[in-house]
Amino acid sequence: MKQRSKKIRTFYTDQQVCFDNIQNASFSKSPLKPYLLMQRIEHLGLNNLFLRTSQFEPYTKADFELAHTPSYVNNVFNGEGNYRSNNLPWSKNLVHSLGYTNAALYEAKKHALLHPQTVCFAPVSGMHHAQPNRGSGFCTFSGQVISALKLYDEFGVSGAYFDLDGHYGNSIEDTRAFAPKLNLAIPKGCNVNPSGYNESYIQSFQDGLDRVAKLILAGKIHYVVFAHGADSHADDDIGGGCDTKHWLLCAEIFSEWVNAVSKKIGKPLPVTLALFGGYRADNYNAVLDLHLSSLQIISEKICQTPVTKLKTLNLHQKRNSRRAS
Ligand SMILES: [Zn+2]
Repeated sequence: MKQRSKKIRTFYTDQQVCFDNIQNASFSKSPLKPYLLMQRIEHLGLNNLFLRTSQFEPYTKADFELAHTPSYVNNVFNGEGNYRSNNLPWSKNLVHSLGYTNAALYEAKKHALLHPQTVCFAPVSGMHHAQPNRGSGFCTFSGQVISALKLYDEFGVSGAYFDLDGHYGNSIEDTRAFAPKLNLAIPKGCNVNPSGYNESYIQSFQDGLDRVAKLILAGKIHYVVFAHGADSHADDDIGGGCDTKHWLLCAEIFSEWVNAVSKKIGKPLPVTLALFGGYRADNYNAVLDLHLSSLQIISEKICQTPVTKLKTLNLHQKRNSRRAS
C-alpha cells in the first residue's frame, strides 16, 4: 500500500480570515480562528507537521447557490435582509473571507481524493448550522454540503462526515430537500454527530465509525472528513461532551480506524480534517491547543510523523471564570 505523506497538506490563505470586528465585537472568534491557529503553529514550532497551499480560487455566488437560495446569498453579499442570521458582525471582509473558507474545504477534499496518501486540512469553522435560506449559530453557508455536491458532480464520489463539534450539524439534513443530489453526495447515515458524555460519547462515535466502515468496504463511500470541534470539550463555554482524556481519545480512535480501513481496502482512505467550533472567553489558546493536539495525534498515527507532544498545552488549566450556560 502507498505510504502516507509525512505532512498534513493545509489549505490556508489570509484571505480566508475575517479581521474586521471579530476580536472585540463577536462572541465567536471562528472567523479569525484560521489565522490564530496558524500563528499558534508558528509560535509552538509545529510548522514541520504541515505543508501549506495558499493559491486557490474563492467560491462565487453560483457555488453558494448549490446549497442556498439566491435571495439569501444576495442578502449576505449585500448586507441586507436576513444577513445577520449567522449571529456574526457583518463586514465586506467577512463576505470576502467566506468565499475562501468554503473553497478551502473543497480544495482540501479534492486534493485528498486525487492524492489519497496525503491527509488534507482546511483550518475552517462555521459551516454546519447554515440552512438553505438562512445562516445560524455563527455559520453562514453550508460549506460541507457545497463541497460534497461539487465533488459528486466532478468525480461521482460520496463522502461521510465525522462531525465531532459539540453541536448537532443540521446543515446536511436540512439541505436534503433543497438539493436532493445530496442524498448521493452524503448518503443518509453518513453525517455522524456523536452524542453522550465520555464513555457514551466514545461509544456513539464508534457506532458511526462501524457504520461508515461497512459502506466504505461496500464501495459506497469514497472519502471521509473529520471535524474535531473543540466545543465538544467539557470546558468549552457553550459545548461539552468529553473531558480532555476522552476528547483526545476520539482523535486516536479515528486515526486507528483510518489505518485499519485503509489496510482492508488496500489503499489509503482519503481523509480531510476541519476545525469547526470552539469557544473559550477566558483562554482561547486552550481551544487552539485542543485542535493542535488532535492534529498531532493524527500526524503521529496516520502520517507516521514522530511528534513532541505540546508542552505548553493549556488544557488542564483551572478556569477562573466559567460562563454560566
Ligand atoms: Zn459547535
